[in-house]
Amino acid sequence: MLVRTPRSLFLAIATLLCVCSTHAQILLPDLGNSASTQMSAEEEEAQGHSFYMQLKRSGYVIEDPIINRYINQLGQSLVSTQTNNEREFTFFVVNNPQINAFAMLGGYIGVNTGLILASESESELASVLAHEITHVTQQHLLRIMEKMNEQALPVSAAILAAILLGQSNSMLAEAALYSAVAKQAQTAIGYTRAHEHEADRIGIDMLAEAGFEPMAMASFFSKLEKNYRYNDNSLPEYLRTHPITSNRISDAKNRASGIEIKAVNNQDSFIFTRSRINVSTLLKNSEFIDYWEKEYQKNPQLEPGDLYALALAYIADSQYKNALHISKTLLQQYPHNMAIIETHAHLLHILSQHKDAQTLLKKGLELYPFNNALTLALSKQYIETNQLKEARKLLSTLVEQTSSLEGYQLLSKVESDAGNEGYSHFYLALYYQKQKEYPLAMTQLRYARENTGNDFYLSSRVNDLMDTISPHIEKISQQTKRKKP
Ligand SMILES: [Zn+2]
Repeated sequence: MLVRTPRSLFLAIATLLCVCSTHAQILLPDLGNSASTQMSAEEEEAQGHSFYMQLKRSGYVIEDPIINRYINQLGQSLVSTQTNNEREFTFFVVNNPQINAFAMLGGYIGVNTGLILASESESELASVLAHEITHVTQQHLLRIMEKMNEQALPVSAAILAAILLGQSNSMLAEAALYSAVAKQAQTAIGYTRAHEHEADRIGIDMLAEAGFEPMAMASFFSKLEKNYRYNDNSLPEYLRTHPITSNRISDAKNRASGIEIKAVNNQDSFIFTRSRINVSTLLKNSEFIDYWEKEYQKNPQLEPGDLYALALAYIADSQYKNALHISKTLLQQYPHNMAIIETHAHLLHILSQHKDAQTLLKKGLELYPFNNALTLALSKQYIETNQLKEARKLLSTLVEQTSSLEGYQLLSKVESDAGNEGYSHFYLALYYQKQKEYPLAMTQLRYARENTGNDFYLSSRVNDLMDTISPHIEKISQQTKRKKP
């Protein structure tokens, strides 16, 4: 993980390199300047956001709104136990089979799909999140960067070289990175062990406070350790950056054993989210279907998570009727589960049972008002059945209440379909503004301004947003000027 040594920070860049090297422009946070506790919260957020956006643009971040909501709710339930925390956290899932999770500056916490699939209970997954959250709240990353300050320059230079190499050869770039980073890792270990201990200790308290099983951290660590004990080559990234010693496990056990358990969390959402991740990472749906069909024939009382996964694999394989048969059963058992509602409604819609699909989604929205996944699903159905007014109304409320990015995107499409080009560009501008993509937002606002017609309300909104964005554009152009000799 990132904070154990700064290595995974660089690994994150290395990973990005492979994909981003085809892009013309790579924005690299300036590590030389960042290595200081003088860094303001705003600067920290800007750097974390920049990393996060690079991961997003490279297609590594899972965009499924149900998975996103799950991981954020889980993360926030832990964060909310930290009464003196004022920081905002963003949790996201990275499409990567390695068992790993990492914290970045500004409270951005990424969890790999591999780690979610390896965890057998929500408490195990929560234990890793709690550990990472602590790295952020205790400012471990900043402290490491401060210690690295004196050596930061050569490393930054090495990274820059690697980035340049990466434009033509990502393998070479990675090799250059690894050798530069290996030296750093050596010096970093001495003072990060204390951070790891602190992250475990505070993390376990956080787990218990949020109603999870505090023993889960020790059990997850020892399970991972056992599985990989004899296999150094395939050691998960998590274990390389978080060596699990018997000391660490027994410390975690001791700490947890003294804590009274407040409540046991509901596992349904965890299980169904894991099934979604599982199926989204499958290479061959047919093999998966063959295996689980046989199991299902032997015993129709499959575990709900396996049953749901089979339904999703059927959908991916366009076997909608088979999928519907399962989702119907699951909906009877879990009438209030958001993932099941969304999947069943999706199937009804594909099979042209539009009315039933819309009724189900509306019911779902009564249970989960302004829910992103359900609102988007219902809006898409409205768009496809040419109910543009309904779609517009629903999406306008969604973006008002939640600033949903997908909401702005879809709203832009609705307006474009309805022939309102001005509004379409305006909503796209908001979509970019929310992601701090100011130049792109400004371009959209210019298009919007050309298409306002006699709509004074729209033109004043466009002008207001231009005024809000202008200072950011000014700042960017000043930074670019400064960089040029
Ligand atoms: Zn750690």
